[in-house]
Amino acid sequence: MIRIERSPVAPPSLSAGNHYDGADVREALFRDARAKCYLCEQVVVQSGFQIDHLQPKGQYPLRTCDWKNLFCSCPKCNNKRKKTWPSGGLLVPDVDDVEGRLRQEIDHDGTVSFSARDPNDSAASNTASELMRLHGSEDPVLRKDIENALLKCLQRAYLLRQELKKLHKEDESWHRKRLELKRLLGRGAPFTALLRSRMQDKLSKKLFD
Ligand SMILES: [Zn+2]
Repeated sequence: MIRIERSPVAPPSLSAGNHYDGADVREALFRDARAKCYLCEQVVVQSGFQIDHLQPKGQYPLRTCDWKNLFCSCPKCNNKRKKTWPSGGLLVPDVDDVEGRLRQEIDHDGTVSFSARDPNDSAASNTASELMRLHGSEDPVLRKDIENALLKCLQRAYLLRQELKKLHKEDESWHRKRLELKRLLGRGAPFTALLRSRMQDKLSKKLFD
């Protein structure tokens, strides 16, 4: 999970208060989320993502058309999310320091883990448990799918880093490979937070946006 820069002005169709999925809302959510699910950070397509209500609309009907309660989610995460608001709440990716309050890590074999940096931070702990579940802690098939996709990105990042270390800046391919690694670790690419946890060397960190 990474921070989201939400467009400050709510899309006009929300003001009628009777639907939350107008074309303007979808367009703004998709753009603000950089075409990724805000929960699992996998790429979504504009015609296929779902609008998730961070505070579930069943429990908070008054927030159904509240711009600040809407997020761009993949169908899997939206359907698997708990439909009740936990005691202590959840982190809000465009308000809270999600990257600072969550520890988001991937092991060398692709095993994913999420936890709160401060065990007394209940919103971060609740978010971490939700992210564990959405990454397949109770669903081995889903877990394997995500691990495989993650490992593919991680292996490419490792290879590029290794190659860059051997090349000189004057080499023709240096800029190309550097740009590819920058894109791979960028906020617009899948799994930003998890990938970055294993790319903490000086060369890679310089490329973080
Ligand atoms: Zn997702």
